[in-house]
Amino acid sequence: MSNNQQTSDESRSSGIVVSGTRPTGALHLGHLNGALKNWVQLQKTARCFFFVADWHALTTDYAEPGGIAENTRAMILDWLAVGLDPDVSVLFRQSQVPEHAELHLLFSMIIPVPWLERVPSYKEQQDQLQGRDLSTYGFLGYPLLQSADILLYKAARVPVGEDQLPHVELTREVARRFNRFYGPVFPEPTGMVVEAARVPGTDGRKMSKSYGNAVALTDDADAVHTKLVRMVTDPRRQRRSDPGDPKDCPAFRLHEIYCTEQERAEVTQGCRTASIGCVDCKKVMIRRVQDELAPIQERRRELTLRRGITEEVLAEGRKQAAAVAETTMGEVRGAMGLL
Ligand code: SF4
Repeated sequence: MSNNQQTSDESRSSGIVVSGTRPTGALHLGHLNGALKNWVQLQKTARCFFFVADWHALTTDYAEPGGIAENTRAMILDWLAVGLDPDVSVLFRQSQVPEHAELHLLFSMIIPVPWLERVPSYKEQQDQLQGRDLSTYGFLGYPLLQSADILLYKAARVPVGEDQLPHVELTREVARRFNRFYGPVFPEPTGMVVEAARVPGTDGRKMSKSYGNAVALTDDADAVHTKLVRMVTDPRRQRRSDPGDPKDCPAFRLHEIYCTEQERAEVTQGCRTASIGCVDCKKVMIRRVQDELAPIQERRRELTLRRGITEEVLAEGRKQAAAVAETTMGEVRGAMGLL
């Protein structure tokens, strides 16, 4: 570790932050606005552990794991391109730190099954991802694996979308139950709700690769235009002359992220009076998205020319993550009488 890095570690005093993303495909605007921009800011003030949640990917994509390795590599490139700094944050792959699995196993001994069955995403995702058999042991237990991911690093804070808050609450309950049985080992983390976490996809549902409604960070300007110009709007605007309301328009959620207050005011007025059509309304928003993605894509192109960059970053991240994970597991094994 360089002196500079040490100094910056000392100044990043606002606790440990842990977060991960599944390598299920190209990262998209939902990831960028829901997590990555926030992560880039967080790494300036906190010791951050960001991981590729490849075991979590298997909880839903277990039948088709073929893309995980390539998606992991692509995800690290995206992370670096948006500004995550491997000299400042620990960037690693979950499956390369087996202590995540060990802690999950030990938690599974003490956590009642109904705690997992009542996590809202359990039923919701089963309904949303029809066509996949999600009655598996791994899918039921994935929030507990998340608890292990977080508590392994004794995180103080966990950046999440609002829909993930029940998972943080579960993690707090897991920490409390463990500490009650075996003595104080784990702090209770708090969830930090990330603004704009729910970026709508082109069909109005939450943006997600599995819904086929995402704008990828690697989409070129034409692809961005094609996708967003067709994005669903207020259904009352059937004809150009029908007035609508931006508050009922999924596309306007992107205006809220990308456009100035004045631009939003003009669009709102135009929408409510039907003086603009949806295609015109979206133009400025689409241009902003294209402008934001262009430099990210340029940095990504440069990174792909550096052979072995992703392996290098993951190897260093694994080393740093494993050092912390091993220390925690020493305490856990001791507390549970496993030494
Ligand atoms: S005019 Fe704009 S805000 Fe109104 S429905 Fe169309 S896209 Fe949405």
